[in-house]
Formats: sequence, C-alpha cells, structure tokens
Amino acid sequence: MKALVLEKPNQLVLKQIQTPRPQEDEVLVRVKACAICGSDVHGLDDSTGRRHPPIVMGHEASGTVEQTGGAAGDFQPGDRVVFNSTLFCGKCHYCRRGLQNMCVNGKVFGVSSDSYRLQGAMAEYIAVPGRILYRLPEEVSFEQAALVEPVSIAVHAIGSAGIKLDDVAVVFGAGTIGILLVKLLRLSSCGKVISVDIDEEKLRFAVKNGADHAFNPAGIDLQSRILECTGGQGADLAFEAVGVPATVKAGIEGLRKMGSLVLLGNLTPIIDLPIQRVVLKQLKLIGSYAFANEAETSLKLLAAKSVTVDDLISAVVPLEDGPRMFERLRNGEKGLRKVILNP
Ligand SMILES: [Zn+2]
Ligand SMILES: [Zn+2]
Repeated sequence: MKALVLEKPNQLVLKQIQTPRPQEDEVLVRVKACAICGSDVHGLDDSTGRRHPPIVMGHEASGTVEQTGGAAGDFQPGDRVVFNSTLFCGKCHYCRRGLQNMCVNGKVFGVSSDSYRLQGAMAEYIAVPGRILYRLPEEVSFEQAALVEPVSIAVHAIGSAGIKLDDVAVVFGAGTIGILLVKLLRLSSCGKVISVDIDEEKLRFAVKNGADHAFNPAGIDLQSRILECTGGQGADLAFEAVGVPATVKAGIEGLRKMGSLVLLGNLTPIIDLPIQRVVLKQLKLIGSYAFANEAETSLKLLAAKSVTVDDLISAVVPLEDGPRMFERLRNGEKGLRKVILNP
C-alpha cells in the first residue's frame, strides 16, 4: 500500500509498504481522510521525542471497513467509521470506568517515542481494534469525521470546566482547538467568550466563530481589558490551549476569585506559576487531556450541524501532496488551518 513515511527527521517520503493484516479483534480500515495535526508538524524534526523515524504519522482519520478479523465486533465491509486516536486497552482500571484517555496502556497512532511505535493513518490502510471504532452518521463526511478528535478534545475540556449560566470564559489560543472551544462555548450556557491570540488573522476568525471580544496581548494591557469585559471581576473560566508561560500566567491573572483554568496546552513542559494568586483566590487549575467517551457526542453535534468544522478545513489533497502541505504548515502560512490528506 501507499504510505507517507517519516524516514528521517524532516524527510517525508511517499512509498510502498506492507499492508497491515488485521488480527482477530481488528478491522482493516481503508483510510479516506486523515487530518494533519499540529503535533505531527511539530514532531517532523523529531524535537518532540514523539515522532522518532521511521514512522507513518496520522491519528485523526476516518474511512471504510475493508475487512474484519473474526472477533472485531459487529462491523461489515463498507461500514463508514472513525477511530479513536488513542489505542486504549479496554481492560485497565480507567478503561473500565470509561476514562479511555487515562488508559495505563494507551498508545497514540502515528507516534513513536522511546517506549513504543504505533503506525498511523497517513496510508491507504490501517488495522485497528473494533473496540476503538465509532460508526459515522450519514450526515457526517469523511473529512468532517477526521476532525472528531479535535472536536472531542474541546468537548472534553468544556466538560471538565463545569460551566454555569452566563459565565465569562477566556480562550487562550485561536488555533484549531481554541476555535473549537469558542464554537462549543457559544453552544453552551456561556455568557461572554473572549479569545486571545497573537495572530490578528486568527483573532478575526475567532470573532467570526462567535467570540465577543478578541485581544492580541501585544501592546495592550490584557488584564485590564479582561476586567473591563467582566465588570471588574475577572473571568469565571479560562481555557489555555497554548501551553507557554505567558498564556498560563495570563490565564491565572485573568480569573476572578474561585475561577477555574482548564489547561490543555503543554508546549513548555515546566513553567513558573503565580502560586500565591492561585492559593489566595482559591483558583482551580484543571488538566484536560485528549478525550474519554466524548467521540459519540462530537459525532452527534457534527451530524446535527450544531458544530461545523468545514470552515476549519483549508485543503483536502491527495497523499502525494503531504510533504508539500507539511512544509506550508510548518512555515505557519497565514489562514492555513486544517489540511486533510486523501490516501
Ligand atoms: Zn491531533
Ligand atoms: Zn486501559
């Protein structure tokens, strides 16, 4: 089969590799759409320790069932499916409680770290266990389904936050996850949504997607602007979808007393915290990782068009164009959001 292989750091090559054979509990999926994730772009040079070559990347994908093992569940060839980006075991303490993102044996497709290598979906076929598959509603296209992972990440984060009627929320970062957070907050009982990013084009897009205010912290006093929008109180909630010291600090400082900061970003592994502020104001810091059983919620939202992702998809291209699109994404081309590969 054709696959896009990261052969060496920064060297993506389209080549023929062995088609996987499904095990008993697996389904062979004919990949129809695979989105390029920011983590794939960051991992290209092997600097994140999560994409050691050689590896076929890609964990945001959908397709049709080609063939099933004997015990992969109730799937037939031709069924339209999307799979969880995490290969969870289904047996551990967390999996048994529906917390698949906390699985102690969890592995992410298209990742090769020091502890494991799991081939991803930037290829014609991928074999995955039936337990991690979700059926696609008729209304959801393969391209839209490839974005079920980021949508579910945002759904999970919002679920962790405990939003109340008329809350004011600040979203740091207006990339894919940041925009999905804005869209979903608009759908929730949230009162005001404030988007923060250093990229003006992204801020305009956040406003288009329902943000009431959009601030570029460069050259303004962000804290006083947040106070102005919240009657001098500070925000009830903040979502940090970047993971660098400045935004985490700004997230903490923008909260009212007893506010909550949901942390999704983790670009910088260790950062300084204004701990005194956290303690004295009784703030809540909540980590939010991947998603647990939210994929079905996301599929329902997509099917009902309550959440749209079409405006996040900038290009749908054949697998052959993968290397070129990776390059454009790495160069941070303005307005280029999600790119979907059609193997
Ligand atoms: Zn991803
Ligand atoms: Zn598990």
